[in-house]
Amino acid sequence: MTPVPRWLVSTFSKGGPKARLRVLMYHRVVGGVPGAVNPGLTASQFEWQMMVLARHFNMLSLSDGVTRYKEGTLPARAACVTFDDGFSDTLRLALPIAQKVGVPIAVFVTTRYLNGGIMFNDSIGAAFDSSDAGRLDLRDLGLGLHALRSDADRVSGFNAVIDQIKYRSVDERLELARRIAAIAEVDVPSDLMLDDAGLRALHQGGAEIGSHTHSHPILSLCNDEEARWEIEEGKRRLERILGAEVRLFAYPNGKPGRDYGPRDVDLVRKAGFEAAFTTGVSPDAGMRDAFQIPRFTPWDTNEWRFVARLLRQS
Ligand SMILES: [Zn+2]
Repeated sequence: MTPVPRWLVSTFSKGGPKARLRVLMYHRVVGGVPGAVNPGLTASQFEWQMMVLARHFNMLSLSDGVTRYKEGTLPARAACVTFDDGFSDTLRLALPIAQKVGVPIAVFVTTRYLNGGIMFNDSIGAAFDSSDAGRLDLRDLGLGLHALRSDADRVSGFNAVIDQIKYRSVDERLELARRIAAIAEVDVPSDLMLDDAGLRALHQGGAEIGSHTHSHPILSLCNDEEARWEIEEGKRRLERILGAEVRLFAYPNGKPGRDYGPRDVDLVRKAGFEAAFTTGVSPDAGMRDAFQIPRFTPWDTNEWRFVARLLRQS
């Protein structure tokens, strides 16, 4: 296939005071054979995306992007790469690729699961991926009976359970995840997330570290005190581990109006952050708010489509 010419990208992307900050969002980059549930990108898929980005876009560090967005001085074709949650594979696999290709990354870390913890969705993912039984009977938990005969079964069972419990409290989700893993007789991994040393290594390796709350709650379900504590505690703990100020924030789940609201935007500003990021897929027309900068995840494997999707985010 003909590569995308660089002049074409320049034509469609202007910098300056009206330019938006184009921010990509990733979670896992996996080595070996990915599981059926939440497979993430393989290292080679991620490397291909970074090479396309480096070829066509002006890759900025996130803090540089934020500063220039606020000043209205973004260059043409500006883009930034971010990771969420604080997975150990961000350090092990993503950072070396990003360094090799010359793409700066920022990582939004949830502090509660560092050092051997696991988020509820990853724990349930491991149960559905690794159970040897032909089915997973979660009827005692009110979460149905799920066949596990094929990869498609595992994915649809996982999605059905996550849909049912995603909007429950952090403690309830974690308790259900623990019980599901026990019923599935699966030992969930204890090395999925970074530990303190890994977090420091990521930071020393040039990744910017941002905060993603302490426990990854749905902020709109928290009362005022819980929301304030989650936002402030995540920042405090990261700063203690890194010995550096943490200025950027990403809302857990991150859908505007559904997962967080104006109260949370206000709490994030008052906690001393300089900018915050959502998972809004398409930015509100005309909205320029440094505390609600949208991000998106590109999934195209064709260079033209990949570049076209990025250009639409501007
Ligand atoms: Zn997250």
